[in-house]
Amino acid sequence: MQTIKGILFDKDGTLLDYDESWLPVNRELARIAAEGDAALAGRLLLACGMDPLTGHIVPDSLLAAGNTRQISDGLVAAGSPLSADELTHRLDELFANAAEFSVPVTDLAGFFARLHARGFKLGVASSDNERSIRFTAKRFGFAEYVDYVAGYDSGFGVKPEAGMVLGFCAATGLDPSEVAVVGDNNHDLHMGRNANAGVTIAVLTGTGSRESLAAASDHCLNDITELEGLLPDLQFA
Ligand SMILES: [Mg+2]
Repeated sequence: MQTIKGILFDKDGTLLDYDESWLPVNRELARIAAEGDAALAGRLLLACGMDPLTGHIVPDSLLAAGNTRQISDGLVAAGSPLSADELTHRLDELFANAAEFSVPVTDLAGFFARLHARGFKLGVASSDNERSIRFTAKRFGFAEYVDYVAGYDSGFGVKPEAGMVLGFCAATGLDPSEVAVVGDNNHDLHMGRNANAGVTIAVLTGTGSRESLAAASDHCLNDITELEGLLPDLQFA
């Protein structure tokens, strides 16, 4: 196997704890899309992958994995009276504000600083908008260690296309075979495979399960902190 020299992280469910960060936002999203109609809001949540009672998220559903545009289209198809354009605009606002209340899975500043000190190139590729990613990096103190950021609106295409990985390679001078792609959804792992990334690594802090992520991942970790123990094997293989 190629030596791994760069790591491209998904954001939600990977750097940020999905349930703590996103379940309240999903409820607000449904309220906006239903224009306050509570019964419709419940139906919209179900249609997009969240049980309104338990908060359980279906792996790889729209709410687990979709970008703002895809979620908006799904909400319209499920009965939202708003237009997809209007929803996309309002949900991007909501998501950018939500970054202020998100909960990280670990001390991200320390985590990124240690990986940076070991010489890894680091990036974040998210289906969220770029503004939210940059805000998150700043808020949790790891912006200075990140070599690359791509949102669904950054011009590198969307997951699971290869573009965000290839953009990371262009920004860092790495070959895809030297890159580890880390995420909590199959669209992250498929993006890695579509780009011929060196290794795909699943984490269980998001909406996926060991079962749902097994086929497309080379490794499955409880959370990103286990990556630090795995990396020497990947680096000196
Ligand atoms: Mg994710």
